[in-house]
Amino acid sequence: MNYTVQEIAGITNAQVIGNKDIVIKNIAFDSRIIYSTKNTAFIAINTPKNSGEKFIESAIDRGINVIISEHQHQQFENITWIVVENSVEFLQKLAKYHFEHSHLQSIGITGSNGKTILKEWLYQCLWNEFPTVKSPKSFNSQIGLPLSLLQINDSHKLGIFEVGISNPHEMEKLENIFHPEIGLLTHIGTAHAANFQSEEELIDEKITLFKDSKVIIYNGDHPLVDQKIKELYSSKKLISYGFKDGNQVFIKNNISREENIIVEYGNEEISFPVHQRDEATLTNALALITVLKELGIENEKIVEKINALKAVEMRLEAIEGIKGNIVINDSFNLDLDSLKTALQFLNEYNKPQKSLVLTDIVGVNSNSQELYEEVSELVNEQKFDTVFLIGDEITKFEELFKAATFTFINTQELIESKHLTEINNQIILLKGARKFEIEKLKDILELRKHDTVLEINLNAILHNINYHKSLLKPTTKMMAMVKANAYGLGSYEISEFLQHHHIDYLGVAYADEGVELRKKGITTPIVVMNPEQHSYKTIIEYNLEPELYSFRVLELFYEAVQKSGYDKKYPIHIKLETGMHRLGFKGPELDELSETLLHKNLKVQSILSHLSSSDMPEEKDFTLQQLNIFDKNSSYLVGKLGYRPILHILNSSGITSYTDHQHDMVRIGIGMIGESPNSEIQKQLRSVVSFKTVISQISSVENGESVGYSRKFKADHTTKIATIPVGYADGIPRLIGNQIGSLGVNKNLAPIVGNICMDMMMINVDHIANVKEGDTVVIFNAHPSLKEFASYCKTITYEVLTSISPRVKRIYIKD
Ligand SMILES: *Cc1c(COP(=O)(O)O)cnc(C)c1O
Repeated sequence: MNYTVQEIAGITNAQVIGNKDIVIKNIAFDSRIIYSTKNTAFIAINTPKNSGEKFIESAIDRGINVIISEHQHQQFENITWIVVENSVEFLQKLAKYHFEHSHLQSIGITGSNGKTILKEWLYQCLWNEFPTVKSPKSFNSQIGLPLSLLQINDSHKLGIFEVGISNPHEMEKLENIFHPEIGLLTHIGTAHAANFQSEEELIDEKITLFKDSKVIIYNGDHPLVDQKIKELYSSKKLISYGFKDGNQVFIKNNISREENIIVEYGNEEISFPVHQRDEATLTNALALITVLKELGIENEKIVEKINALKAVEMRLEAIEGIKGNIVINDSFNLDLDSLKTALQFLNEYNKPQKSLVLTDIVGVNSNSQELYEEVSELVNEQKFDTVFLIGDEITKFEELFKAATFTFINTQELIESKHLTEINNQIILLKGARKFEIEKLKDILELRKHDTVLEINLNAILHNINYHKSLLKPTTKMMAMVKANAYGLGSYEISEFLQHHHIDYLGVAYADEGVELRKKGITTPIVVMNPEQHSYKTIIEYNLEPELYSFRVLELFYEAVQKSGYDKKYPIHIKLETGMHRLGFKGPELDELSETLLHKNLKVQSILSHLSSSDMPEEKDFTLQQLNIFDKNSSYLVGKLGYRPILHILNSSGITSYTDHQHDMVRIGIGMIGESPNSEIQKQLRSVVSFKTVISQISSVENGESVGYSRKFKADHTTKIATIPVGYADGIPRLIGNQIGSLGVNKNLAPIVGNICMDMMMINVDHIANVKEGDTVVIFNAHPSLKEFASYCKTITYEVLTSISPRVKRIYIKD
């Protein structure tokens, strides 16, 4: 978009206070991911659950000077305000106007599943044919769709937008804003059916999007969809695709055989190799082909494009690099859109220094001066310390980049220059078009090279936190337990992510863990649960808050505070003993405790206790007794203190089973990682951790031959055995060898055979078809799950996670 403040106000009937002539090209709605402040207005979106107005200040701090909001906030100076009646309606009105005045061909994708993947696939196939704009991520709602449409600018020839609904009558509203020329209806499932009376109602609602479409491309496998579309839209061009007979576009040959897939399209055939043969992938491929044909792409090109899709992964990886660097690898493709996404991702880390490797943008037909001006503007706003440009196009525009800039003709030249290996303690973004193969740089910059990785999905953590929050009162605070290297997942990376998402407190076991977080830039309050007495000085120096559990440690800590010269009231946390019999003050000690506290220059920041058995329904009476003692003793202490510290006792399973006892704060640990003892709760959580490796070698072991140390496994017929590079030194207990435990290979379970070695083990893959060397082996994630794996080990999930050796590379992904 490109409007003055005055024009925006005119289109939407809003009121302007301030400078009417400022030109707005972007609207940001999340103050944390503002990647550019130039020509950008911040909109404070108010929804029934949340008010964006509380983030106005942080947007202004980031340099925004135009705010769209339902209220003007007087305390800020030199800000232009667009005051609107209703922030969501404002967005919708502006988006409708903008879309109706744009001149692009539009594709609207709706359906229950597959919208985002199809949108991304289409984009990857089309962006170098036409200047294309698409919805970011899965922005498809009443707010997401308008924000997506507002990204359209004059140069775009094609727009691909997702449209999603979850309640009756929402599609009408969305169709009023956006009427796609080509409508694409993916699979209709029960995913969003919850709020609809019947499937029919859901279908009727979804297909409303196509009211003004010229062409409707739809999955015809669903009889009711097929019938409804034919009834309602008989005058339009209709193309159905799918597995069932009767679809116009379908797969002609047997998909289970290892040969090319042949798709019949009208009287043409398109044949291409396929790696993934599951029904969902193939159905999506049919939809993709149908849209590409409709846009006039030639068969040969379609095949080429589908082949190039094979590595589709819409995610950025953050990898621990050499020399304290963090490497963000996004070497899959490069266009302006994905550059913006990567820059946003970068913003979530607060490493003070950053470097960028950026290549030519390939295959776009637009004016390169303009293109690279826009690129350099985006890059300059990020204040990189160093920029490395690769390619003969982008290097022509070297002067546009304000950072220390180095140019290279190809990736090899940059590798040979040795520049990269000199970088330390920075965040390094690798962003390049595929042909430059900058993933080679990742190999150089990566800290450890190992086929074995522990993959941690940060979005899943956020989902799990939000799920637990949804059970609590909005005012209840949350402490995330990141002790023991955040249950083995990496305390800095997890804490950084949680800090970004406004967690109230972090909890560690020892002072050293807190110090490491402070040194790396974590500023969230940190409680040290088990402070050792030699560490008190460090605790004070690094602004950590100790949990104190006896008169002895209270006195010792207070001495340390006095010695340090700290002259305000130092924040401490008081642990009460309520039945765990580990640490804490007992009931009869409270009078003396309050006396002592009142005479010391300390501030009781919180009073806490810990439940011993919140995960055991059979110990409910005992848990209720603990909760009662806590209620009684904490309120007694509060009364004596004369002020009210934060009270907290619930851990993860406490949150789900004893929600009424949430007090002022809860402490989440294993629940954040997606584990619950309760199977109903478990269904609501997402699995966070995936421990995997690859097959090093496959051997055929003959009848009578043995496998591994001490000849514990002997084959009784010719048996296919795979060796994998993970052993007990990686944290796999030796006791799960000899067919106690199994690992996942191609969705099957392969039993561990023979004794587990220090760095390797062998698994039986005799029953698994098509298994080859280099294939992925899942130690745990879904199949086997972390819980199943823990049961092989005869222990709990906590111990499995914290036992994984530090030599296993942790990688962090966001999908
Ligand atoms: C580890 C810990 C928690 C978190 O427990 P989960 O069962 O993982 O939720 C809560 N409180 C204290 C004091 C802890 O040490």
